[in-house]
Amino acid sequence: MATSLNADEIAGALATLDIHDYGDVLQCMRCGSCLPHCPTYRTDGIETQSPRGRVAMIKAVIDRRLQASEEFVEHMYHCLDCRNCQTVCPAGVKVGELVLEARHRIEEHTPQPLLKRFMLGSAIRDQKRLSRYLTPLRAYQLTGLQKVVRRSHILKWISSDLEFMEALLPTLPSRPLAETIPDVIPAVGKEKGRIGFFLGCAMNLVFAEVSRDTIAVLTRSGYTVVVPKGQQCCGTPNIAEGERKVYREMAEHNVALFEDRDVDAIVCDCAACGMELKAYRETLAPVHRVAHRAEAFSAKIRDVSEFLVAALGPEITFGTIAEKVCFHDPCHLRHGQKLVTPQRELLRRIPGVVFSDIPDEGQCCGSAGIYNITHRGRAMRILEAKVEAIDKTAADRVVTSNPGCFLQLDYARKHWNREWSLSHISQLLRSSLERGETMQ
Ligand code: SF4
Ligand code: SF4
Repeated sequence: MATSLNADEIAGALATLDIHDYGDVLQCMRCGSCLPHCPTYRTDGIETQSPRGRVAMIKAVIDRRLQASEEFVEHMYHCLDCRNCQTVCPAGVKVGELVLEARHRIEEHTPQPLLKRFMLGSAIRDQKRLSRYLTPLRAYQLTGLQKVVRRSHILKWISSDLEFMEALLPTLPSRPLAETIPDVIPAVGKEKGRIGFFLGCAMNLVFAEVSRDTIAVLTRSGYTVVVPKGQQCCGTPNIAEGERKVYREMAEHNVALFEDRDVDAIVCDCAACGMELKAYRETLAPVHRVAHRAEAFSAKIRDVSEFLVAALGPEITFGTIAEKVCFHDPCHLRHGQKLVTPQRELLRRIPGVVFSDIPDEGQCCGSAGIYNITHRGRAMRILEAKVEAIDKTAADRVVTSNPGCFLQLDYARKHWNREWSLSHISQLLRSSLERGETMQ
């Protein structure tokens, strides 16, 4: 977030929004259809916390009727970028993306805090370095210190924010997935094709076993999986915070890395990565030397459910999992990639699964990158509403496919003593496929 503002420069920068974005601003007809779908409007009930309010504020700054003050900046960072408003807006206004554009203009014209510059400019570029930063946390868990800290509730007396962040922490793998898998993992049985696999930072460093499950499902389905070494962050955190220079460098690097690997598709099991990798065709479009290559790269990106629903043939036998299951749609899957049916179709193919929808039309869980830490109060109210909606399904298991959502729901499960278990869709599919194989 910004440290000191140059309101005039920000207003000037916002006024240079290209015709596409400014067209979006003008296109809002103030109908209000988006209001009941916006999580921040649902929690706060005020216009400035609504998509319509955010568009109006951006327009007012451009028209110089409103100063680009600290308050304006705060409002731009209150949005979760969940894009639920974009799903429902009859005029096609892309409010979430417009807010990110505003953050970019703010970031360009405001000195940024050192920690943010370090994280987005340096740390995030190298997953090996990120892994080294996690060493103290691994030691904290391996030595048993975590258990002592949790039992003593000592963090509550130091800082409730620290206690919350500690409670979010899952058990970390001893090594990132990238360091323990080969470049090429052959298909099991007859090869149907070769696909690439994108290793998101959180999946590689925190949910390594889940991505191992994803790869196992893909190879068991007949695909050779290529995992190029040296992948960098997809850039979602940079885009969310308004940073574009390092984002573009990382995006170009990722495009080049997969280029000569002769793969038909590039699969990822993190919804946020999937959305961003698909967006390279737009975000890299102005960079002429890479634009057409980014287009080809984005055209190959598939969310794991999107890929599997088309790739899993009738020869694949699923084993029975007799459970009542619901799916929490990550916003970047449902609203960002407009994928709603593949994950449901896959779950319904598992014998014994009784599927029910969470009755909230794809509301955010409040995770939204680091929103649950930077805006904890509102994020918890959003999470509470999500848990109430999950309760209505009476599910035994909640399934999702994004690391941030997983951490947030896992926190909720423990914090409010819910009995449902939680899985990434790859975990459930692998377990069902293995049961199916033993039946043959
Ligand atoms: S953003 Fe779309 S849905 Fe919301 S008020 Fe404007 S036109 Fe209506
Ligand atoms: S992206 Fe989400 S939080 Fe932001 S305005 Fe739209 S619905 Fe509200």
